[in-house]
Amino acid sequence: MKTEIPEFPQLPARIARLAELAYNLWWSWNPDAREVFRRLDYTLWRNTHHNPVHMLDLISPERLTFIAEDSQFLKLCDSVLARFDQYLSSTLNWFTKSHGELHKSPIAYFCAEFAVHNCIPIYSGGLGLLAADTCKEASDLGIPLVAIGFFYPQGYFRQRIEADGRQKALYEAVNPERTPLLSVLNDDGSRLLVSVPVGERTIKVAVWKLQVGRVPIYLMDRNIPENDPPANDLSMRLYAADPYFRLQQEILLGIGGVRVLRALGYTPTVFHLNEGHAALAGFELLREIAQSGSGFEDGIEKVLDQIVFTTHTPVKAGHDEYPLQMVEESFHRFWAELGLGRERYLGLGQDSNTGAFSMTILALRLAARTNGVSKKHGEVSRGMWHSLWPDKKVDEVPIISITNGVHVPTWTAPELARLYDQFVGAEWLQQHDDPSIWERVFEIPDEKLWETHLLLKRKLLNFIRKRARRRWLEQSVSSGQMVGFGVLLNPEALTIGFARRFATYKRATLILSDRERLKRILRDPWKPVQIIFAGKAHPDDEPGKAQLQQIFEACSSPEFGGRLAFLEEYDKHVAHHLVQGVDVWLNTPRPPQEASGTSGQKAALNGIPNCSALDGWWWEGYNGMNGWAIEEDPGGDDAATANGVYEILEEQIIPTFYARDAQGIPGEWVRIMKEAIRSTAAVFSARRMLKEYAEKLYSFVPARGHGDAEEN
Ligand SMILES: *Cc1c(COP(=O)(O)O)cnc(C)c1O
Repeated sequence: MKTEIPEFPQLPARIARLAELAYNLWWSWNPDAREVFRRLDYTLWRNTHHNPVHMLDLISPERLTFIAEDSQFLKLCDSVLARFDQYLSSTLNWFTKSHGELHKSPIAYFCAEFAVHNCIPIYSGGLGLLAADTCKEASDLGIPLVAIGFFYPQGYFRQRIEADGRQKALYEAVNPERTPLLSVLNDDGSRLLVSVPVGERTIKVAVWKLQVGRVPIYLMDRNIPENDPPANDLSMRLYAADPYFRLQQEILLGIGGVRVLRALGYTPTVFHLNEGHAALAGFELLREIAQSGSGFEDGIEKVLDQIVFTTHTPVKAGHDEYPLQMVEESFHRFWAELGLGRERYLGLGQDSNTGAFSMTILALRLAARTNGVSKKHGEVSRGMWHSLWPDKKVDEVPIISITNGVHVPTWTAPELARLYDQFVGAEWLQQHDDPSIWERVFEIPDEKLWETHLLLKRKLLNFIRKRARRRWLEQSVSSGQMVGFGVLLNPEALTIGFARRFATYKRATLILSDRERLKRILRDPWKPVQIIFAGKAHPDDEPGKAQLQQIFEACSSPEFGGRLAFLEEYDKHVAHHLVQGVDVWLNTPRPPQEASGTSGQKAALNGIPNCSALDGWWWEGYNGMNGWAIEEDPGGDDAATANGVYEILEEQIIPTFYARDAQGIPGEWVRIMKEAIRSTAAVFSARRMLKEYAEKLYSFVPARGHGDAEEN
């Protein structure tokens, strides 16, 4: 099996290795490497939305000849490539040092979406971001991870907001040749194809490889001419609602995923199923074991030792269930190879309450090592799945907690990273999961941190205006829409960010509960406040879309004076601007439905305090000095909870933000910013998270059977 980086014949020999750099996403979280492509051709860098592969395709021979003789550029290139080589070959990393002897074979990581970079838009939200941050951190730590997912030729969707506030979903084909995807080939140069039986059909998938530092992500693609009938539109997109189709995709992800790994020659010792979507991987592992002559019970024992499962949501609808009949039909030809009766296999996933086949239950039954994604979520999950362990007390249910974290090099604003270099210490990035180094954040002079924050805020507002201007130039938007897109935002005003998927439990409209009070807060002439919203609703989620429409209607309505704005097309790029450029990060999920949330962690890392419901990560992250906690009304009355939010704004956030000294610096506010960084940067990093996965769940110490809860 092999992949080949395409030739770029116009690239001068002196800089020919830029192609290698372009095809490894390592460049995306290394500022010097980004600088290489930025300097290569700044206009193209911007016009391709930071896509080096596309740049190499478009760049003019004149520019290449010129830049290949620019000694400054060559010096930068050489040093970046030297670091790149060192990064890829070094064995001086945490994992090799602490676990190297144990781990000779890789950990396979299954996920339905990966948000590595915007040039491969195969993600919808938090799950994809987490998966990508996991791959990057595994690469940094030297954990031998190999990831498996899907290539969706139309990605998720692009979002447009119409004049009436309705969300329009646009689907655009992604051209793989303009992405860093490499086709996986057989030795004879033909494409590797893997077959998966689904009902009466056999579906074939081709495989793409996306290299993320040391970690490869293999993406299955079913949209190939070898499939008859050809794949339909649904298979081009992430998360189709149609259950029959969704099940097909999950069969491909789980069963196809294992087969792809085998075809590539991998023998992972751990199969980490990130979310239940890939639970059927367990069936394939059982089939392999059955083929080698083992019985059912034996097979289950062996599989338990190999599977790690992470559950991601306490929201019921977030757990895929299928009618038993549908699963039965889809596996029609599979049972014969499993040996024992199909009832026992079907029973593994059966939900005794609904009778349906649940992917989460299947995964829980086949994984000896399981976790939720924050302390609170672990606890909620133990209650939620207690019935699977009727003999145990609720707190003995073997689902541990490993709180999510974010990839620090990806999410720290480069401008702030320079301050951290200077004051937290040159080694801060190397040691960023050590909480003690962050004490030094208090050595950053107030005026420097404030100045840097204002710079990032200006960048955000410029970005919003640029986007709005582009829409205005399309000549199809009204002036009301323009206000809604944020053209009246004020760079001096206290700016609150609220960006997330428009799922109803996230309660985006909570802040609109008392419009009169909100109006008074926003329109205060001396201490104005503004809120920037962003987020997509799933195209089939009518209540989510209705909430979004209500938000946009408020944004474009004159009564709020242009102090509410909606930023279209929330994606990783928009998220970067928001979590680095607003003053406060607001989050109002209905507890206990937020499993973790990671956007608030990104904000805190950039010195932006959270004002959030005590749910998910904030339940353990809030310490009384690093932001604000929203108290939930005990009777579940949203309007009463909203009153609590207005009160925090009126009595704490606004006065503190506007209390300035003679230089215009809000000293107390800056202290909260520093405390936000100090208390969260290490603890809520992907590095801390992944070390926990490695030590608690990937550990090679054989699992002690299904029964033993591990220490939290
Ligand atoms: C971080 C991130 C998310 C997840 O954040 P939540 O706090 O779970 O909402 C979703 N979408 C994008 C684009 C992100 O960057």
